[in-house]
Amino acid sequence: MRLVLIGPPGAGKGTQAKRLSQSFSVPHLSTGDLLREAVSKKTPLGKKAEPYISKGELVPDNIVLDIVEEKIRGSESGFILDGFPRNIEQARELDLCLERDGRKLDAVINIDIKEDTVVERLKNRLVCPKCGAILSVKDVSSTWICPRCKAKLKKRADDTEETIKNRIKVYMDYTLPLLDYYRKKGILIDIIGEGSPDEVFDRIVKSL
Ligand code: ADP
Ligand code: ZN
Repeated sequence: MRLVLIGPPGAGKGTQAKRLSQSFSVPHLSTGDLLREAVSKKTPLGKKAEPYISKGELVPDNIVLDIVEEKIRGSESGFILDGFPRNIEQARELDLCLERDGRKLDAVINIDIKEDTVVERLKNRLVCPKCGAILSVKDVSSTWICPRCKAKLKKRADDTEETIKNRIKVYMDYTLPLLDYYRKKGILIDIIGEGSPDEVFDRIVKSL
């Protein structure tokens, strides 16, 4: 199975990608997670990417392609891509990379959601540095303890009001055109992203 998840920041791509990855036993590839890991380990790549991430700008294509391509090529069972591709150039590169091995995407899932919902979710988002769980301040006690592994939850560094605004703008300018790109290929599936993670997951599974 080779899937791409597209949607604005806060649409629930990460949450749904994790569930799909478990249900279908294919790896979850999140460029955001891979880049954040590189930043926290202070690798050369992480040092280059950090200033872009903290402003909510796209990290240059060559950096992202470097980390994604080898992972994609190495995965026989396929992948659930989350956060990649994010512009037309990356989509073309992905197509080329797959074509070289005689493969192609099965579907691209567009998680559609209102801007108000996005801002609300991102402002309240908490992540678990230990197990990777994604939660909301509304769902945990004021002590911010992960319900799964008891680690202290954190806010993501780029979930600030100003950076959120810029990430939404970057999404509109660079990522939205991908919907037409994939619609023309006949592989785009639109999913309503409002509601609980369970509801959205059900919609995705039924659509596949
Ligand atoms: P979100 O979708 O919530 O904005 P991500 O974790 O997918 O979060 O991405 C966080 C940041 O990482 C982005 O704002 C961007 O700076 C960088 N990034 C992630 N994926 C890509 C990509 N495919 N191309 C360029 N930059 C990326
Ligand atoms: Zn946890």
